[in-house]
Amino acid sequence: MSVTISRAARKRILAEAAQSPNEEVCGLLFGGESRIVSVLPTINIADNPANSFEIDPAALFAAIRNQRGGGERIVGHYHSHPEGPARPSVRDTEMALDTGRLWLIVTAGEMSLWRAGAPGQLEPVELALASPPSNRQ
Ligand SMILES: [Zn+2]
Repeated sequence: MSVTISRAARKRILAEAAQSPNEEVCGLLFGGESRIVSVLPTINIADNPANSFEIDPAALFAAIRNQRGGGERIVGHYHSHPEGPARPSVRDTEMALDTGRLWLIVTAGEMSLWRAGAPGQLEPVELALASPPSNRQ
């Protein structure tokens, strides 16, 4: 099953990554089972952001609280690999314990999507661009 990403979300992630050529950027993905609708960039609090990422827990908890209150549903997160490639590092795989969550990895102008399966496994997911909003009247 492929997952779609909105044009706005894709643009935002690519822009964030482009603005940070030396450190990984990261953030949360919101939407549904098979779609990414919006994103929330968060601070990367990793000790060594040049080659790792850790989402700011305060931002994560705020998003969880918001979701419980009927807000946007968290479906996963994204992070960048400034030096590429757009696939999980060994460290990413080791951190993939959040079964079902989407992992989006972005590098220069390119992104790939993965879903956490069994602990320590990230399975590739086809990522498609969502259709533009209809202008029919
Ligand atoms: Zn990574």
